[in-house]
Amino acid sequence: MIPYGRQSIDQADIEAVVTVLRSDFLTQGPVVPAFEQAFAARVQADFAVASSSATSALHLAYLALGVGPGDRVWTSPNTFVATANAALYCGAEVDFVDIDAQTYNLSAEALAEKLVLAERTGRLPKVVTAVHFAGQSCDMAALAKLAQRYGFALVEDASHAVGADYLQQPVGRCDFSDITVFSFHPVKILTTAEGGLASTQHAELAERMALLRSHGVTRDAEHLLQRNPGGWYYEQQSLGFNYRMTELQAALGLSQLTRLDNFLAARRRLASRYDERLAELPLTLPWQHPQGRSSYHLYPIQVDHRARVYDQLRSAGIGVNVHYIPVHTQPFYQQLGFKPGACPQAERYYQRALSLPLYADLTEADQDVVIAQLQQALTGR
Ligand SMILES: *Cc1c(COP(=O)(O)O)cnc(C)c1O
Repeated sequence: MIPYGRQSIDQADIEAVVTVLRSDFLTQGPVVPAFEQAFAARVQADFAVASSSATSALHLAYLALGVGPGDRVWTSPNTFVATANAALYCGAEVDFVDIDAQTYNLSAEALAEKLVLAERTGRLPKVVTAVHFAGQSCDMAALAKLAQRYGFALVEDASHAVGADYLQQPVGRCDFSDITVFSFHPVKILTTAEGGLASTQHAELAERMALLRSHGVTRDAEHLLQRNPGGWYYEQQSLGFNYRMTELQAALGLSQLTRLDNFLAARRRLASRYDERLAELPLTLPWQHPQGRSSYHLYPIQVDHRARVYDQLRSAGIGVNVHYIPVHTQPFYQQLGFKPGACPQAERYYQRALSLPLYADLTEADQDVVIAQLQQALTGR
């Protein structure tokens, strides 16, 4: 099976992990801070807080922004369930804003309309989370204008968008947002097996996330609330979690980070190869907005008779996938009161969506097999 996504691991990655295994620290050592610094430098952020996953990073981000019971977090239905779930972990209410038909990202127009209604009923969101679907940045400038006007915080779920650009700047710089969250799951752009990271320009948000990542406990003399009785002393100041990244993961991440430009170049080359070779087939290609440059975590096309095309490609050993089943249509979210029909663009997109295999180590020969099998499924030739 040619999968839709997979990691790329080389000898240097393996050696980096083995070196940590032979060292003094498997967790809470020097490598996590080194990875955080290197990643922050790469995305031009002032602060980076690594964690056990993007899901935990989203939870930490929402908590740091003060999300709690009675608050509302709005996001795109065209995302993985974790974006919304993490807001529910905080006791907040979730709602969904429909997507743009061309980028499949949260629509600034739909958001503007929904905010007008919410202001009237006194139900404005505390946080809006923009998900950079497939690796293409949302229209952050437009969203930031609305954030200013209505007074909500902006989080970027950049799980797909490690290495992507928006207005010539790296995603993660947080020029238009409070916090940006990344995922290092093996299908994403670079991997730490499991892992995530939150970047921000705000020292207080970074400190809050770092505290909550490790039980709400600090030993930092500068931040103690009570008198320091001696070197053994630590303080629990909040109800935190164990959301730490291990040294093994950070070592893999640091090594992978040196290969990021190669990963991006390979994904972009393969994506433009799909663009060219699929142009004549009866399908909708992904659209790159000129204001940015996607990292191409996914290559999402739209086809008629998607279920048949999906089955036919799967039978031919092509691991196509579907991103995403709109979150509000999941049984769990329907139990919370959401109804199909609430986000018509996302639901229409989902009916025809199909993600083709795309990852750094995908060979052109394998990609040609994908293209030939797709042509067969769509045209019978
Ligand atoms: C993968 C993903 C997540 C969750 O990432 P984990 O690191 O697996 O927790 C969240 N949001 C989006 C959009 C994702 O694609």
